[in-house]
Amino acid sequence: MSALPFIPFTRPSFDQATIDAVGEVLRSGWVTSGPKLAEFEAALSEYFGGRPVRCFANGTATMKIALQVLGIDEGDEVITTPISWVATSNVILGVGAKPVFVDIDPITRNIDLSKVSAAITPKTRAIMPVYLAGLPVDMDQLYALAKQHNLRVVEDAAQAFGSQWKGQKIGAIGDLVSFSFQANKNLSTVEGGCLVFNNLDEAKLAEKFRLQGLTRQGMDGMDVDVLGGKDNLTDVNAVIGLHQLKQLPAFQTRRSNLARQYFDVIRAEMKSAGIEDLQLELPPENFTESNWHMFQIILPLDQLNVDRAQVMTALKDLGIGTGVHYPAITGFTLYKNLGYQAIDTPTAERIGRSILTLPLFPGMTDGDVPRIAQGLCGILKKHRKN
Ligand SMILES: *Cc1c(COP(=O)(O)O)cnc(C)c1O
Repeated sequence: MSALPFIPFTRPSFDQATIDAVGEVLRSGWVTSGPKLAEFEAALSEYFGGRPVRCFANGTATMKIALQVLGIDEGDEVITTPISWVATSNVILGVGAKPVFVDIDPITRNIDLSKVSAAITPKTRAIMPVYLAGLPVDMDQLYALAKQHNLRVVEDAAQAFGSQWKGQKIGAIGDLVSFSFQANKNLSTVEGGCLVFNNLDEAKLAEKFRLQGLTRQGMDGMDVDVLGGKDNLTDVNAVIGLHQLKQLPAFQTRRSNLARQYFDVIRAEMKSAGIEDLQLELPPENFTESNWHMFQIILPLDQLNVDRAQVMTALKDLGIGTGVHYPAITGFTLYKNLGYQAIDTPTAERIGRSILTLPLFPGMTDGDVPRIAQGLCGILKKHRKN
């Protein structure tokens, strides 16, 4: 084991002002959805250029409600990617619809938009792209496709808070855009999420879905006209989000600088270790559009005599935490039992088997990235074949 401090693959940053603000909400006498939620939703709406925004208990509920707002249910198909947190396709199944998986682009690791048209059927209602590690898809191409085939889009932008497309914020453009504020995300409310809309009618419908389908008229006029759930965000979470929003520019700068350092240091370490021939498939060096939610490499398993789990264990022994985001959803038992096969999307299958997330979070110190790159390259050198 390493004598150096353990570096987790991610860690949230909450400052003292945030902690104090949580204390204030707890002492205020109103702790669930109330004034802080309204303030947070207004701040988010301003951030997204004035579009309506509603918050929910988590990103999963946010995506589920997006599908409910669109009336997607049994008999409908939704096109998505196999490389995502399983929540993405679980919510599609959850409303009774069928996820249709399209293979990914090996460079961006996002859904390959050039393959979407071939997957569209008369039952297709929506496309649900995922911006893995915070890198958006080609939004021009996405919305041209949606327009051409008359489809709605639910962007799973869970990892893309702070990302951009051609100078515009993800969430400030597009159809329904869903974010997660889970603990690991770039902006966190511990748990939470928000959905960005283009019109108030859909925002109002989402409000009903998040609270039992309730409508209110006057002091005493309570009615329920759709089947809603209990997916509201509390003021405790909302006040954390308000403080995170203030810190976001600093978080972003730090993430971006750490990502740049990764490219430089990994390349230098590979050279000095004499392993430049190993293909790590570093992510696209996109510093204008990605929010650097994660820094992911693809392990050259064909060139190594160890598997991913062994590389992760060796890194852990050096005090370096890593993660897998994600194995192809189509390989999970639930999905296999539904008839999906990982080999139907071969690029997703390969990437899902070999992708590795290295530590990246604003609280990392300057020495962390060189330490991680050195550790990684040492392991790769030791375990390369022949
Ligand atoms: C985090 C995440 C979600 C779900 O968010 P929760 O807040 O954990 O429910 C969905 N999709 C992706 C890609 C995510 O990373």
